[in-house]
Amino acid sequence: MGKLIDTPLGKALSTGKPILWLNPELHAKKACHNTELTLSDIHQADQRLRRCAALLQQLFPELISSNGLIESALLSATNLQQQHYPELSGKLMIKGDHALPVAGSVKARGGIHEVLCHAEQLALEHGIISGYDDNYLKLLSADAQALFSRHEIAVSSTGNLGLSIGIISAALGFRSVVHMSVEAKQWKKQRLRDRGVTVIEHSDDYSAAVAAGRAASNADPDSYFVDDENSPRLFLGYAVAALRLQQQLIEQQIPVDAEHPLFVYIPCGVGGAPGGINFGLKQVFGPHVHCFFAEPVEAPCVLIGMQAIDKEHPDSVYQVGLRVDTEADGLAVSMASGWVCSVIDNMLSGIFTVTDDELFKNLFRLSQSEGIEIEPSAAAGFSGPTWLTGTEQGQNYLQQQRLNHAMHNATHLLWTTGGLFVPAEEMQKFQQRGNQRPTR
Ligand SMILES: *Cc1c(COP(=O)(O)O)cnc(C)c1O
Repeated sequence: MGKLIDTPLGKALSTGKPILWLNPELHAKKACHNTELTLSDIHQADQRLRRCAALLQQLFPELISSNGLIESALLSATNLQQQHYPELSGKLMIKGDHALPVAGSVKARGGIHEVLCHAEQLALEHGIISGYDDNYLKLLSADAQALFSRHEIAVSSTGNLGLSIGIISAALGFRSVVHMSVEAKQWKKQRLRDRGVTVIEHSDDYSAAVAAGRAASNADPDSYFVDDENSPRLFLGYAVAALRLQQQLIEQQIPVDAEHPLFVYIPCGVGGAPGGINFGLKQVFGPHVHCFFAEPVEAPCVLIGMQAIDKEHPDSVYQVGLRVDTEADGLAVSMASGWVCSVIDNMLSGIFTVTDDELFKNLFRLSQSEGIEIEPSAAAGFSGPTWLTGTEQGQNYLQQQRLNHAMHNATHLLWTTGGLFVPAEEMQKFQQRGNQRPTR
């Protein structure tokens, strides 16, 4: 294969105009298994979070009302649908991870799961607990604190993963180091420093911050690096969302089957969070769920990563002349996780791209119609239903998948991935920008 920039897709991406790409490998039988991961691994991650529920409740009083579970609501978006998607048949809903407690974003389940894995392992090795059925409140004991304080947990982040890892690591008593890439917002750094986390600021992009963070951590035997580009522990924590969503759909009596397809639109950065959710949903709902990722026009790294023959070595967005120039800090990633791209190779339905103007317009519309406030990254999925039902390519997808007869029964789920901790004055600026006419 030649260079991506020489292909029609590469040329289209390089213009910075929004596009929809459909994955030709969807539901393809794989020659070799790219992943050993199964539904049972997701259940184990869920069990781990449940074992730690009492512990989490002690550390974070905001979890008392949910008995220590970090979960978000499944919401109807009736006003948003009536006002802004009048042609859409089926039901528009929101998975409200913008309000996930403790971390304030979709990073909560994955990040907290990975840190708990590490803490649990250390506690078992050092005899703090004797097994999975022991009392996990022992992780708060003086012995445990002495142990954890000798160990470091490090991560690289554009902001939200750092918040998730930093907050839980510091709360458990670990030394915590967060390497922030250039796009990280000041208030996210301050929030971590206020909790005793060491924040190292990099003037380079996310992939470079990951490389630097990984190298520094690997040089210290007492440091554990949460590797966003290669982490089954993060990925499985994210995938737990699928089990929780399945339960919520049952409670709200919303079927998902051949006659009731589920379309999910998820903002995507390096690929881990949406990839984990996609993987989980496919394990739970098989062919009846259709996952689409949303990336900024300036940072479609997973779209590019999915084109690679050797998925483990994806190209960067710079190779098609883009610059990661976006206000969506959570999605500002130049190079995808090759590992995630290979795992979701035959599970992902497609990817569409969005301009920053659309992000702000959509977060403003959501606030006006539903009273829900989210950060720009979290609004990336909102053009999904229109791409799918209102364009020729989207129609092609529905035809290929033989879905047209069932669209009046469809559920369209917008995954809102962050926003809880955005300071009021920042939020006001976001809303103002969304209320203006586009600048270009
Ligand atoms: C991190 C993040 C995403 C995407 O997750 P990735 O694992 O980077 O693909 C989406 N939305 C928000 C708000 C995020 O912080």
